[in-house]
Amino acid sequence: MVYDAVIIGGGPAGLTAGIYAKRAMLNVILLEKMGVGGQIIVTDLVENYPGFPEISGADLAGKFEQHALKFGLETKGMVEVTHIEDRGKIKVVKAHEGDLETKTVIITTGTTPKKLGAKGELQLIGRGVSYCATCDGFFFRVKTVVVVGGGDSAITEAIYLAKMTKKVIIVHRRDKLRAEKINQDHAFSNPKISFVWDTVVEEIVGKQVVEKVVVRNVKTGAVSEIKTDGVFIYVGLIPNTGFADVNKDERGFIITSGCMETSVKGIFAAGDCRVTPLRQIATAVGDGAIAAVSAERYIEGL
Ligand code: NAP
Repeated sequence: MVYDAVIIGGGPAGLTAGIYAKRAMLNVILLEKMGVGGQIIVTDLVENYPGFPEISGADLAGKFEQHALKFGLETKGMVEVTHIEDRGKIKVVKAHEGDLETKTVIITTGTTPKKLGAKGELQLIGRGVSYCATCDGFFFRVKTVVVVGGGDSAITEAIYLAKMTKKVIIVHRRDKLRAEKINQDHAFSNPKISFVWDTVVEEIVGKQVVEKVVVRNVKTGAVSEIKTDGVFIYVGLIPNTGFADVNKDERGFIITSGCMETSVKGIFAAGDCRVTPLRQIATAVGDGAIAAVSAERYIEGL
């Protein structure tokens, strides 16, 4: 069987593409490496998706999935795509679990948190070093944690961690945050959150579990230590696009047109994995809708 569309990735962009593709009566399947929902499943609180002034990421992901299933979207979890073979009008989506033939592919694989690269980081993952406050915050009840980064992820997750920990220390390499102003205000007014500016974490130290971080002030060069029980790292995102032979920018984000076309005809990309000025649920959803409609038009033209 040849599908009309194979969607790779089950976050907001992929599920929206699935809804639009099903409503266009396309024969479509959505493949997901883990379970459907995407990165928002581990987001404590979403406050900027219209219609839902306050909803947990997991609840919103559940609603997206239910909505897609209502239109009969076929989904398959635990499938890791390794390559897309371009045979012109037919693409072969290759996975360990088997190959699928399709007229179009919509890549919505999102991103993975970037590692900091500090000494001791990799050795202490799961023993105090974490990239997911919603997953691991519970283990740091009434303890002190360091959060590294100054973007929206660092700030929103620091606010989440402040609910259960004794103290959150945000270590940021500049003296200004990159995060949305409203998130900044919430963090600045939280009595449990403090900031260490112009500072980078050079080493994470601990015998069995994290005990402290060694930091360096980038302006003065002064090296000091901060005692902490945990280190939560939010220093940006790496796109999950290694399997796709399409044009990308220097960081690996897929370059698309406004219609979500990639450099290969019949392959589209949407959401956080593409080059875009804003990575939000709202923008991912819009991208997903455009990608599905573009795929439909491409198929009509075949
Ligand atoms: P990001 O916006 O790229 O921010 C990464 C942060 O880490 C920056 O503050 C950066 O510092 C810092 N950083 C990068 N490399 C570093 C290093 N080697 N050492 C120390 N610090 C380093 O990533 P993000 O926060 O994960 O956000 C990604 C996207 O998702 C953004 O578009 C964001 O708006 C969106 N998002 C939105 C929300 C929301 O609630 N609205 C929540 C989460 C994510 P500099 O500032 O100096 O570059």
